[in-house]
Amino acid sequence: METTPAFEGLRCVDCEETFDAETATHRCPDCGGILDPTYDYDALDVSRETFESRRFDSMWRYEELLPFPRDAAVSMDEGATALVECPTLADEMGVGAVYLKDEGRNPTGTFKDRGQTVAVTAASQHGASDVALASAGNAGQSAAAYAGRAGLDSHVFLPSRSGFTNKALVNVHGGDMNVVEGRIGDAGAAFDDAMAEHDDWYSVKTFETPYRHEGKKTMYYETVEQLDWETPDHVVYPTGGGVGLVGMHKAAKELRDLGLTENLPAMYAAQAEGCAPIVRAFQEGRDVHEPWDTPDTICGGIEIPDPGASPLVLDALRESDGGAVATSDEEILDAATQVAAHEGLEMGATCAAAASGASALADDGAFGEDDTVVILNTGTANKDADVLRSHLMSKGI
Ligand SMILES: *Cc1c(COP(=O)(O)O)cnc(C)c1O
Ligand SMILES: [Zn+2]
Repeated sequence: METTPAFEGLRCVDCEETFDAETATHRCPDCGGILDPTYDYDALDVSRETFESRRFDSMWRYEELLPFPRDAAVSMDEGATALVECPTLADEMGVGAVYLKDEGRNPTGTFKDRGQTVAVTAASQHGASDVALASAGNAGQSAAAYAGRAGLDSHVFLPSRSGFTNKALVNVHGGDMNVVEGRIGDAGAAFDDAMAEHDDWYSVKTFETPYRHEGKKTMYYETVEQLDWETPDHVVYPTGGGVGLVGMHKAAKELRDLGLTENLPAMYAAQAEGCAPIVRAFQEGRDVHEPWDTPDTICGGIEIPDPGASPLVLDALRESDGGAVATSDEEILDAATQVAAHEGLEMGATCAAAASGASALADDGAFGEDDTVVILNTGTANKDADVLRSHLMSKGI
């Protein structure tokens, strides 16, 4: 395996046992817990200048803080997305500045590429021939793309309600597509059955591979560098499984502990009212969610009724002094069309939960008048053009 010098291995978040990344590939061999990459931070010699001196051309420019070197990565120069100031939103929310991190500018149109570039690199390094996952849609499309680039076969399990673009592009990338009747849980069950029959499939599913949340750390590194190393006061994230939120919170602690930044930003999970297990657990003061009985939201990317890593997400929200907020589909789609109309930026339906959630937080007085708020636009509106257009239709437009 080709790894970076400071990368030590994997630590189980439950039993805290550590493992060699060469042999431990997925969940904890002892207890089944989530594995998290660890580094010898003392051995790292990085400063703000280290990163500033590099072209802003790929998330792999932070390779010291990733498990694999850029040279070894299965990469399409993902990341390095724009951080766009949104003055109209800042006025409306009564804060100093609002920035939108525009992840729609990734190779397959969402931030899922940041996770898949690392996960598929790991698969490749472990000598896998096939990668597989269940996904609401975007992760499946991304995995098929990266597998194609690495010369691996991909097996993607999507629920029937995932979007046409996702399904079409899994095929276009040459993936083996399995559309499963029902929702994400049904796709997950079909995936589990298939995995049991295929020893040689390498899972690139969320939190089964230790590397997807690791790749998502880079959203935060970039954001802070784009803000000239000022820590934003608040980061609002459209939350399903919470992979990106956990990754960004880890990144914030790393930069602070390395002395590159001063503080941690408050992290907020934004969900849809029709499926908000994290918000409910946060409000009830629980350490772990209870599965949501009847998920029902147009925001497919965050319709995750049973997010397995909820303890990590809830920890991040509390440790960062952030919060959780749920808004209705109507408010979310309104937010998507309003941001597009007034800022020009195109937010996917799922992603707009973050814009709508940020407004609700502002209304609740969560933000100060000089504060900086970062909203994650996790994916492009192109994939949801039909949903956004019909929302206007429902209003007679
Ligand atoms: C997957 C996805 C999310 C949710 O991501 P998590 O990190 O699992 O919470 C949000 N937005 C979009 C567009 C997605 O594809
Ligand atoms: Zn363990």
